[in-house]
Amino acid sequence: MILDGKVLSDKLYKELNVSKRSKLIILTVGEDPASKVYVKNKIKACEKVGIQHEHITLDDMTEYEFATYVTDLIESNVKSVFNFGIILQLPAPEKYVKVFNMVVPPSYDVDGFGYWNRLKLYLEEETPSHYPATPRGILTLLDNYEIPIIGKHVVIIGRSEIVGKPLAKMMMNRNATVTVCHSKTENLEKITKTADILVVAIGKPKFINSSHIKDGVTIIDVGINRTESGLCGDVDFDDIKDKCYAITPVPGGVGPMTVYSLIENVVIQ
Ligand code: NAD
Repeated sequence: MILDGKVLSDKLYKELNVSKRSKLIILTVGEDPASKVYVKNKIKACEKVGIQHEHITLDDMTEYEFATYVTDLIESNVKSVFNFGIILQLPAPEKYVKVFNMVVPPSYDVDGFGYWNRLKLYLEEETPSHYPATPRGILTLLDNYEIPIIGKHVVIIGRSEIVGKPLAKMMMNRNATVTVCHSKTENLEKITKTADILVVAIGKPKFINSSHIKDGVTIIDVGINRTESGLCGDVDFDDIKDKCYAITPVPGGVGPMTVYSLIENVVIQ
């Protein structure tokens, strides 16, 4: 079964109850070509659901200037817009990322990467204002295709702050048994072969193939790799597709679900 994030997200956009007075503010620094594509997709999604958007390219600033700039920007939008969210498109220089994560209040931090939301994610007695978009999109995809999570062994390859780590906590919250693997993991194949759901987020083209999995596994391929022959995931789709129960394509799997989840975070506050 193909877990089609494009088809599912298109259906979910139509079901979103959108307030006209919602807005996404996107801050970018520099000229990263991949970022340009991601920003374009986010703006397209805003237009599709009919919410406002503002894309601001930042000039070079000191940390103090940036903190003041973001705080003022939030202040002016609080007064004029009903629902809004603000994101700093990654990659961005560390000085901006740190300041942004510190100063944006959790309710406007629609990427869920800010320190408050991250802290709240890991504290049992708290709930983040927003869950990070990629893990949230993965759960929405699995739920909509009725793939059970409770009690299943979920193996996540990759321990990034934006995908692997938060997804591990969110899967634990859903009563999965979770194993996180990374670049120093020994005997990776032995572990991946025990997965009921295998999530791959490493950024290495076609790294995972049929020798890594048992029959009937569900595969979530988060990777987006630009190669000479075009875009591909971290999973060798053609080699693995007949051995698994379900799989996300690249493109058209996790990517559109990530953008949808970001818009959901802006709209539903
Ligand atoms: P990252 O690039 O920050 O880190 C890579 C992770 O992979 C690290 O935890 C590292 O330990 C692990 N890793 C690297 N080589 C490994 C190996 N040989 N064996 C096991 N683990 C290994 O991670 P990221 O930011 O989560 O990005 C991963 C991929 O997902 C990239 O291709 C990125 O473009 C993509 N991505 C896609 C979406 C989407 O919406 N589809 C969202 C975020 C990231």
